Amino acid sequence: MQIGVPAETAAGETRVAVTPETAKKLVAQGHQVMVQSGAGLRASATDEAYHAAGAEITDAARALGAEMVLKVRLPNDAELAQMKPGAVLVGMLEPFNADGLQRLAAANLTAFALEAAPRTTRAQSMDVLSSQANIAGYKAVITAADHYPKFFPMLMTAAGTVKAARVVILGVGVAGLQAIATAKRLGAVIEASDVRPSVKEQIESLGGKFIDVPYETAEEKEAAEGVGGYAKPMPPSWLERQKVEVAKRVAQADVVISTALIPGRAAPVLITEDMVKSMKPGSVIVDMAAGKGAPNPDGTVGGNCPLTEADKIVSKHGVTIIGDTNLAARVGADASALYARNVLDFLKLVLPPAAKGEPAATFRIDAEDDIVAACLMAHQGTVTRK
Ligand code: NAD
Repeated sequence: MQIGVPAETAAGETRVAVTPETAKKLVAQGHQVMVQSGAGLRASATDEAYHAAGAEITDAARALGAEMVLKVRLPNDAELAQMKPGAVLVGMLEPFNADGLQRLAAANLTAFALEAAPRTTRAQSMDVLSSQANIAGYKAVITAADHYPKFFPMLMTAAGTVKAARVVILGVGVAGLQAIATAKRLGAVIEASDVRPSVKEQIESLGGKFIDVPYETAEEKEAAEGVGGYAKPMPPSWLERQKVEVAKRVAQADVVISTALIPGRAAPVLITEDMVKSMKPGSVIVDMAAGKGAPNPDGTVGGNCPLTEADKIVSKHGVTIIGDTNLAARVGADASALYARNVLDFLKLVLPPAAKGEPAATFRIDAEDDIVAACLMAHQGTVTRK
């Protein structure tokens, strides 16, 4: 099959869907891999490296015009216009973006959004949410340290002692866990909050302290356990008590990293303006839910903090608030390496690798396969999202 790998065009995007490593594997399976010149440059993958892997270096039109196109981000209208009706598209296609899915269907693409894969053991090797959140959680802490005008670790020097930074992590999924691990390596003192009770042990095993907000009703307990490991919106009674506990920690914190998300819904507000006002001057918030919060009364959209501005670094009440919406792209090479392996693993389901010497496999949709069915967003002109 002809597999096209266009350069990503979204602002600030550095990642690429196929690396020389995965291109080599696809070529070995008998596919014709066509990489747009420069597509991997911001991920440290040169045209020469792709060429050495057996890929053809080409232009955007040819990469986008392939039978199958592998991308990182949802194609824009100009890119869609260059794609062939009936082509297969694999990428992070925003399953909750109804308008985006409609455009994929209108372009008559067979489109798979990898973010929609179930969080099961079999799907782990193609779990793009995890691979990218892990990197983003790391980079959130590194970015915070970069903007924080003090040390993270405690230091005892001849000129006096410097206290360790106090870091509060809100939301302990994949990104939050990596943020705890990274902040710990830098020597910070960490406290973390999540609605899911199962994370207490994980936080403690990484050297953090769990901000405990016990459940008082069956409804609270049920919501916290959520569905498929995901949080559901918590009852207001619990959120009020959580707010009180979190507010105490935030007022003491030097750095807050917030990652709390609820799939398909607005991110919860966990850091109010009053909490920001209570923070010490020079403290830093990295809001990983930037741009995903509920709309503010003035129409702007924050994240876990309503003062966050997507893709901006702002100073409010003496606190630096970082709203980078694509932290994984700031680690472009490794983010691409992991993403490309996720993509390659997904392709095994729709393009089963042929045995050596056999002709390359043809594309198929196995509707019985739960991963394929969950990821299929558009087919034959209609939105097929489950
Ligand atoms: P996510 O990015 O959807 O959300 C981040 C975190 O925010 C979650 O831990 C969530 O519980 C938390 N959160 C939501 N509302 C909150 C609130 N009001 N206060 C505090 N925290 C709040 O999560 P994710 O990183 O994608 O992980 C989701 C789940 O999937 C986790 O249980 C994770 O362990 C699980 N998971 C399973 C697999 C697998 O089995 N293959 C792989 C990856 C993740």
